[in-house]
Amino acid sequence: MSEERSLNFLEQIVEEDISNGVNGGRVLTRFPPEPNGYLHIGHAKSICLNFGLAKKYGGQTNLRFDDTNPVTEDTEYVDSIKEDIQWLGFEWAKELYASDYFEQLYAFAVQLIEKGLAYVDDSSAAEIAALKGTPTEPGKDSPYRSRNVEENLRLFAEMREGKYPDGAKVLRAKVDMASPNMHMRDPIMYRIKHAHHHRTGDAWSIYPMYDFAHGQSDSIEQITHSICTLEFIPHRPLYDWFIQQLDIFPSHQYEFARLNLSYTVMSKRKLLQLVNDGIVAGWDDPRMPTIAAFRRRGFTPSSIRTFAERVGIQKRDNMIEIGLLEFCIREELNKTANRVMAVLDPVKLVITSYPEGQTEELEAENNPEDASAGHRTVSFSNTLWIEREDFMENPPKKFFRLGVGLKVRLKYAYIVECTGFDKDADGNITTVYATHIPESKSGAEGSAMSVKGTIHWLSAAHAKEAEVRLYDRLFTVENPAAEEAEFKDLINPNSLEIIQKAYIEPVLAAAKPGDRFQFLRKGYFVVDYDSKPDRPVFNRTVTLKDTWAKEAKKA
Ligand code: ATP
Ligand code: MG
Repeated sequence: MSEERSLNFLEQIVEEDISNGVNGGRVLTRFPPEPNGYLHIGHAKSICLNFGLAKKYGGQTNLRFDDTNPVTEDTEYVDSIKEDIQWLGFEWAKELYASDYFEQLYAFAVQLIEKGLAYVDDSSAAEIAALKGTPTEPGKDSPYRSRNVEENLRLFAEMREGKYPDGAKVLRAKVDMASPNMHMRDPIMYRIKHAHHHRTGDAWSIYPMYDFAHGQSDSIEQITHSICTLEFIPHRPLYDWFIQQLDIFPSHQYEFARLNLSYTVMSKRKLLQLVNDGIVAGWDDPRMPTIAAFRRRGFTPSSIRTFAERVGIQKRDNMIEIGLLEFCIREELNKTANRVMAVLDPVKLVITSYPEGQTEELEAENNPEDASAGHRTVSFSNTLWIEREDFMENPPKKFFRLGVGLKVRLKYAYIVECTGFDKDADGNITTVYATHIPESKSGAEGSAMSVKGTIHWLSAAHAKEAEVRLYDRLFTVENPAAEEAEFKDLINPNSLEIIQKAYIEPVLAAAKPGDRFQFLRKGYFVVDYDSKPDRPVFNRTVTLKDTWAKEAKKA
């Protein structure tokens, strides 16, 4: 679909810039994560956009860690972010850190002080807020706004030296306290924070604010197109103001709508709470919306890139159905995943007409969508495991599976007719009995006999055991962030179901973490890294039913 679609608005801007020779036709974007959590699917969208746009126009992308807030940042996050970007299939031109610019940013701040465009303010946060005004009323000047240049230079240097405690002073830009844009009312450039930084250690006791770090970092790197999400639109005049006053490389900011995905939350702060409170098992718990979690859940990098492409680039916030992401992975795995049989909720089926102790090796096609995937053999015998739900004591009309007197085809094998069943004292079915029709063997001469239903099965003597983890939506409501209730109270209590003892084909016992399969009729599964040699663990990536397909066709 990528070949056919029309240009999005950012591609239009870039093409115009190139044809006008802006920056000599050069395109350099950046992806600027703050290393305060793992990347989520919203970041994946931003990565695909920034890297994809540059690549399309022969440019490059820098990875810049926006590490100006020492308190929340950590090297573990830096490592995970790099791993996730590479896994998604992108290569950055340079790995950079905003903290590497601290000295340069300090020099920029001194320049602004010297030009009379920045001042040290001793007011408390509350006092600053009180004078800030409202969107409809202008603010008032701080009593410190008229400090002279020498005093400002001295105080700012003392702030850096660590002479003052946290919160005692800030450096503010002298812009316009009456601006209709609140961000222009003398925004804070630096605050005092006696905190240990993951890279600069204790070298600094002042740290720049986002607005005085981001644009300047863009400019230092000579970023041509600085792409961010819509909430930064009101910051753009300030972004431009700093660049103009400092007379540095004119990077430009462009905004697009952030990705929101249904039935999950996307803020790193909230995701961190889920991890810290033990509501999920970690950042890569397969129910999380992080890239690491989607990877563990069995999603492929290409399915996520396809998703980002299909979502497109918008200028207005909207909510994307989780079903679209599932559609993308299902569509891919349908073509690439080998089919195997696994019985998740086993009940015994005894074929009384089949000789006890006899084994037959039946040929099974690995993937009907891919002839090159070849064949394997599956062992058949008189005692099988089938799914409990494939037998009913009192089947309704149109139940095309097993019930006394009903016929069904055993995949790759025979048509069988159910003859009876056993129940235990509690009324649970323990064994189902059937006879087989020898002439109905799949692939055999005269096997054209047909029945409405086909079920999967495993020979009890040959099957291996496995743990299987089934996942559902993490939240019970479409947009947890919009609800009045605390988001943590909206967790779906059935979001994880662990099957301790499922049965799988023996070939699966040798599968390695990351290997993907279709379990016939049950969905797509991936081998989890919790697997042990004698105990594989499978995660369900997605079910087979694609309720989204109808919607996608309409669109
Ligand atoms: P969060 O609120 O989830 O913590 P953030 O914006 O603070 O996100 P950053 O690490 O600062 O996270 O973001 C890095 C880049 O990813 C930024 O350019 C940001 O605009 C972009 N980004 C973050 N969330 C989304 C999203 N949901 N959709 C698209 N882009 C996003
Ligand atoms: Mg941020």
